[in-house]
Amino acid sequence: TVPDAPDDTAATDPGGPAADGAELIRFDKVTKRFGAHTVLDALDMTVHSGKHVTLIGPSGSGKTTILRLMMTLLKPDEGTIMFNGDYLTHEEKGGRLVPAGERHSRAVRRNIGMVFQQFNLFPNMKVLRNITEAPVHVLGLAKDAAEERARELLDLVGLTDHLDKYPGQLSGGQQQRVAIARALAMRPKVLLLDEVTSALDPELVAGVLDVLRDIARSTDITLLCVTHEMNFARDISDCVMMFDAGRVIEFGPPEQIFTAPEHERTREFLSAVL
Ligand code: ADP
Repeated sequence: TVPDAPDDTAATDPGGPAADGAELIRFDKVTKRFGAHTVLDALDMTVHSGKHVTLIGPSGSGKTTILRLMMTLLKPDEGTIMFNGDYLTHEEKGGRLVPAGERHSRAVRRNIGMVFQQFNLFPNMKVLRNITEAPVHVLGLAKDAAEERARELLDLVGLTDHLDKYPGQLSGGQQQRVAIARALAMRPKVLLLDEVTSALDPELVAGVLDVLRDIARSTDITLLCVTHEMNFARDISDCVMMFDAGRVIEFGPPEQIFTAPEHERTREFLSAVL
């Protein structure tokens, strides 16, 4: 996993570069501004299929913005994002590359799952139905098949005994584990995790991180995580990307970033959080 040099043909070739199967996410010179504030500054980033990548860095450095761009909750001001061989941000119309319409975004986004800080479960649906709802209504899966899949996922996140409860009857940690199961039920190619433990009471954090460690170990899903949990990042990451002011200032395997960071800003950040 390397934010490598941009391919100059990628932004202009309407078909995009041939999908080689290995490259799942590619940001090419992505700039995002809010007013006069440049949050991401011509960011190049590549994530390969099956890898576990964590984004670390000071608050406000643009990490969550990356996940929100991937969910098409935001649009870049400049640059392109490719996912799974398709443009997420653009589509081809009349031989030209134009900003993607909602239908195109939705189709590409279907293979992207996200878990938020605030679990965002459907409060009026029991746990099982929270998980089966999208597979049935979006993917058209039969109810029985969706329930079977949901039960397997509840087993994976350790909540088999709670499938008949409402979210309000569960602890925050349990709700977050349901949210993880719900995201996985759509069989996404990548799971985006946005500080998924930061809204939890401290004693509930470890259970959620253990579930994620399990998922990292036992599935081939690609993970892109924004986290302040440095031990977790060290455990699960193939690659850690250090952000500062909308740029990746350093990246590499966790043993390199955590034990021998090259950048002064990385050293400062790590000494403040470790
Ligand atoms: P991080 O995840 O690294 O903490 P974010 O990506 O959340 O950083 O935010 C980067 C910067 O963009 C912050 O300064 C934040 O205040 C700003 N920002 C994020 N979303 C918006 C928005 N919708 N409108 C204005 N500013 C925003």
